[in-house]
Amino acid sequence: MVINTDHSFSTNAGLEHAINLLQQVSFEPGNLPKKCPNSGIGELETLDLLAPHVLGKAALLDRSDVLAHMDPPTPWITWVAALWNARLNQNLLHPATAPFAIEAEKLVIDWLTPFFGMNGGHMCSGSTLANITSLWAARDAVGIKKVVASKASHLSIKKAARILGLIYEEIPTNSNGEIDAEQLKDISDACLVLTAGTTTTGSIDSLKLTGHAKWTHVDAAWAGPLRLSPSHAHLLDGIENADSVAVSAHKWFFQPKDSALVMFRDPKKANSSISFGGGYLTSPNIGIQGSRGASAIPLLATMIAWGRDGLVERIDRTMLMAAKFFEKLNNKKGLAIWAIPKTGITVFRPLTCRTEDLYKCLPEGMLSTCTLDDERWLRSVAANPQADIDEIFSRIDNEIN
Ligand SMILES: *Cc1c(COP(=O)(O)O)cnc(C)c1O
Repeated sequence: MVINTDHSFSTNAGLEHAINLLQQVSFEPGNLPKKCPNSGIGELETLDLLAPHVLGKAALLDRSDVLAHMDPPTPWITWVAALWNARLNQNLLHPATAPFAIEAEKLVIDWLTPFFGMNGGHMCSGSTLANITSLWAARDAVGIKKVVASKASHLSIKKAARILGLIYEEIPTNSNGEIDAEQLKDISDACLVLTAGTTTTGSIDSLKLTGHAKWTHVDAAWAGPLRLSPSHAHLLDGIENADSVAVSAHKWFFQPKDSALVMFRDPKKANSSISFGGGYLTSPNIGIQGSRGASAIPLLATMIAWGRDGLVERIDRTMLMAAKFFEKLNNKKGLAIWAIPKTGITVFRPLTCRTEDLYKCLPEGMLSTCTLDDERWLRSVAANPQADIDEIFSRIDNEIN
């Protein structure tokens, strides 16, 4: 055994200093080195130099006026779990060095898959990868020839089809932003991708369509977590008939990136078509990523700390916020609202000025913009349980009066 004498690899007062900086509210950013430095300035000085940039220049997602994107604020227990993960640097590829990380992922997968009618799966860095993994399984397990998805599906579906060398067929949407089932042609050799919570409008494709194609994949990157909520689970009824499901945990499960789940109805069949073994590996590498961190541990920590009830309370709270926001916008003259929000996403635009002009007057991070039917719209995503809808609405109200 060699005694560790390089203190850069052991705990010291630096962590305490880092936590103090994390709680600081205002900073004076200094200059970063222009070139790769030859000699280092040391850890504590580096924290002082970087904090004003890293902590001072980011939008805080728990701010009461933040409602722009699908990125949620993260509970502090995940910060700790992420720190533990960084210290251990476990690799899910190697059971010998990551015994608990592997068990943690099994637990999380076992707990969550039943809500979706799935029976297994694994974690990956995002739903982009979960979608590609699912379509790969569909191609190699059952031999699908094309990918069929709506015009409102996420760009990662088209990307996956391109990478996998599959034909991509785009189906128009109806006036609710859902796949227009009447326009579906022969899907007997296809993977039909249905989106549960489209990225722009939060629409849910009819999940009654699951089970009719050779393989059905449900991209539930955004709205999947609603499945845990007794009040909202019904919105995703039918998902249990899918062959595969993707959910981003770094969206509505309040996880730090990179955290997502790819789940299969028949994991044995799916895994056998997406696994490689041999060489230095003691167990096969399943899926696309090779070395992979223990993103299950922050999720496990959140689920134990909050329980399903606590998780659902936060999701339901944001759904109520979206309903309240819609009500307020709907009662105001001079606005067009795209639709009643289904999954916490409200899209609207001013009728008395340009969308961009209103957008520019609002605080950064409050809303986002999108294009629908050749019009520019404002978009709000209820991913922040700490948002103050009265405050947000009054900012908009003041600008268009
Ligand atoms: C966000 C999103 C994705 C991509 O997920 P990442 O986690 O960002 O890779 C895929 N599909 C839908 C519907 C999404 O909203």
